[in-house]
Amino acid sequence: MSPEEKISLMTERLPAVKELAAVCRLCPRECLTRRGEGELGECRIGSAPVYSSAGLHHGEEPPISGQRGSGTIFLTGCNLHCRFCQNYPISQMRHGNEITVDILAALMLDLQNQGAHNINFVTPTHQAAAIYEALITAFRKGLNIPLVYNSGGYDSLEMLKLWDGIIDIYMPDAKYGGDEPALKISKVKEYTRFNRIALKEMQRQVGVLKLDDHGVARRGLLVRHLVLPGSLAESREVLRFIAEQISKETYVSLMSQYFPAYKALDHEALKRRVSRSEYLEAKTALEEFGLTNGWIQPIW
Ligand code: SF4
Repeated sequence: MSPEEKISLMTERLPAVKELAAVCRLCPRECLTRRGEGELGECRIGSAPVYSSAGLHHGEEPPISGQRGSGTIFLTGCNLHCRFCQNYPISQMRHGNEITVDILAALMLDLQNQGAHNINFVTPTHQAAAIYEALITAFRKGLNIPLVYNSGGYDSLEMLKLWDGIIDIYMPDAKYGGDEPALKISKVKEYTRFNRIALKEMQRQVGVLKLDDHGVARRGLLVRHLVLPGSLAESREVLRFIAEQISKETYVSLMSQYFPAYKALDHEALKRRVSRSEYLEAKTALEEFGLTNGWIQPIW
């Protein structure tokens, strides 16, 4: 879809986005808070955009970072409260600066001018309305590189449908294969149910990840899964779902990089790194379910 077509679609859909945001139902928590009137919901962010940093990121998966880097905008706050969050100063302590939608648009254009392969919105779910408005301005001013929606995977179907045709690359987490650990560790109800609905919708919109001749992503779905110690993420169930309900061709990034951060240090099972056998167990499940596209990380 051309930027002009995206502008037209987004302008038409903007009232629906604003309605979801007004009495907030931007994510499955459905706090019903009036963020524009100073009330705060679970994500503790108002209606204006808040970001922590913007720059070229070379540490994402290879098709996202490419040779020149991913134009990454770290948005402040989160609709999840993972006690192990490795970005906790930004997501949980909400370090960042409140800006206007025009400044957010300018950040995107600046990243494009720096040569970014894409604009990568990190933790966009709870700031969807502000991002939406900023994108209309950015497209009008010449933004034309792919958009990456890099979320924790707890996204509302209603809002995702409003992104249809706009987002080029979905890069959600699939954090848990069961709701019980999600509730205990990330303080969120029915993570697995909503995550699975979201992943199916993302797949419907963009399909399997497609790369250009240089190996850079143009469009599609890339799912991230962080293996947790003690098999708390129920990795096998996550991978089974992706293979059986999304596609065996799905690109999966199976991560071993967990380290105890933030409140994980007070949790018996979470206060250590993932063991070699735990990661290998997840890797074996990946192979067993026929998920051959994607990346694994080194393990000691
Ligand atoms: S985006 Fe924030 S305020 Fe809105 S429903 Fe989700 S957690 Fe609540």
